[in-house]
Amino acid sequence: MERKAKRVLHGIIDSRKDELVALTQDLIKFPTINPPGDAYQQCAEYIGNRLAGRGFEVKYVRARGTPGDSDRYPRINVIARKEGPRPGPCVHFNGHIDVVQAGAGWTVDPFAGEVHDGRVYGRGSSDMKGGIAAAIIAVEALLDSGLDLPGVLEISGTADEESGGYGGVAYLAEKGWFSAPRVDHVIIPEPINVDGVCIGHRGVWWAEIETLGRIAHGSMPFYGNCAIRHMGAVITEFERVLLPALGARHTDMPVVPDGARQATLNINSVHGGQSDNPEGMPSPCVPDSCRMVIDRRFLIEEDIVEVKAEVRAILDRLHGEREGFDYRIRDLFEVLPTLTERDRPVARATAAAIRDVLGREPEFVCSPGTYDQKHIDRIGKLKDCIAYGPGILKLAHQPDEYILVEDMVNSAKVMAQAAYALLTGSAQS
Ligand SMILES: [Zn+2]
Repeated sequence: MERKAKRVLHGIIDSRKDELVALTQDLIKFPTINPPGDAYQQCAEYIGNRLAGRGFEVKYVRARGTPGDSDRYPRINVIARKEGPRPGPCVHFNGHIDVVQAGAGWTVDPFAGEVHDGRVYGRGSSDMKGGIAAAIIAVEALLDSGLDLPGVLEISGTADEESGGYGGVAYLAEKGWFSAPRVDHVIIPEPINVDGVCIGHRGVWWAEIETLGRIAHGSMPFYGNCAIRHMGAVITEFERVLLPALGARHTDMPVVPDGARQATLNINSVHGGQSDNPEGMPSPCVPDSCRMVIDRRFLIEEDIVEVKAEVRAILDRLHGEREGFDYRIRDLFEVLPTLTERDRPVARATAAAIRDVLGREPEFVCSPGTYDQKHIDRIGKLKDCIAYGPGILKLAHQPDEYILVEDMVNSAKVMAQAAYALLTGSAQS
C-alpha cells in the first residue's frame, strides 16, 4: 500500500492508544456472561451509541426465539454500517460480546479492566473485547484519515458465540446480514495471536450417552442394576480403546496449539443417581440412569458418520459383553470442519498487512475449537472470512486473562491496512 496512507493510519492509531485501552476497559466492565447472557443490551448499546456518534447507521436485532432468549436475557446484536462516498466492496468486522464465566483462580477483579505493565486484565480481554476495541479504533482511523475510501465499513457486536452463536451470527446470517452482495469480506478479531491468520477449524460432535439400569434398595444392590457402574465401564473402554486411537490420528491442517493437531475427546460431564443435596442425606437407591456428555473434536480427514459409528461400536460391544448393559445416545450439536484458502482476498490482505506492520511472516493457523466463521460460511455462503485479532489464544477462558496493549495497537494497524487494501482494490496486486 502507498506509504502516505500507511503513515497516516499508523499516526492516528498510535495517537489513540489510550483511547483504545479505555474502550477495552469499558467493554470488559459489562459482565456479558454467557450463560445466561447478561448485560447484552447495555454492551450492544454502548458500541452502537459510540458508532452512531461517528455517523454510522446503527441497527439492533434481537434474536427472538433462539436458545436462552427472554425478556430478562434478550439476545441483542448490534450492526453498524457506514457507506463511503462511492460504491465499492463491504468490509465487515464481527466480534462476539459475550464472555464465559470468570471461574476461580483470579488475582484481579475479572470485570474491572485493570491495567498493569502494558496489559489489560479481565474476562473477555483476549476473547474478545480487546479485538472488538482494536477493530473499532481501526475503522475510526480509516474514517478520520482523509483517505479516499470507496465502499462500506461495517462493525457488528453479536451475542452467544460461546454457546454456539444461535442467538448471534447464525441468526443474523439466516436473515441475510452476512451474505453477498451486502457483505464481501469479514474479519473476526478472535484471539488468534497478533501474527496469526486463522483460516479454519476442526469439526465438533457433542453427544449425550445415557446408561440405563434398574432402581432397587441400596442395601440390596444385587436386586437392581447400577447405571453408574455401566458408565464406569464406558469410560474404561474410552480410556483403553478410543483415546489412544484418537491420539494416533493427525491432521495436515495447521491447527494450533500442536496438541490439537490430532483428534480429541473431552468428557464434559457425568451425572448419575441422586442429585447433590447439601441440605439432607441421600436415600439408599441403586441409580437407574447415568448421563455423560462427550465433546469430540474431529479432523478434516475424518468422516462424521465414522466418528459417530466408532463410539456406537464401543457401546454396542459393551451391550453384548456386559450383563444388564443398555444405553441411549443422543446428538446434541455438530459442526463440520472448515478451511478457507489462504489466497482469498481477505486472507491475503491481512497477511500482507501483518508482514508490513510486524515485519515478520504471518502464521496461517486453524482453530482447535470453532467460532462464528462456521455460520458465515454455511448459512451466509460467504467464503471470504478469516479470524484475525490481538488476543492471546492460550489465555481464552483462563483465570487472569489479559491482552497486551502493544498487540492491540499493532492489530488495529493491521486491520486498518487490510481494510484499506480491500476497499481500494489494492489487495489484488
Ligand atoms: Zn471468542
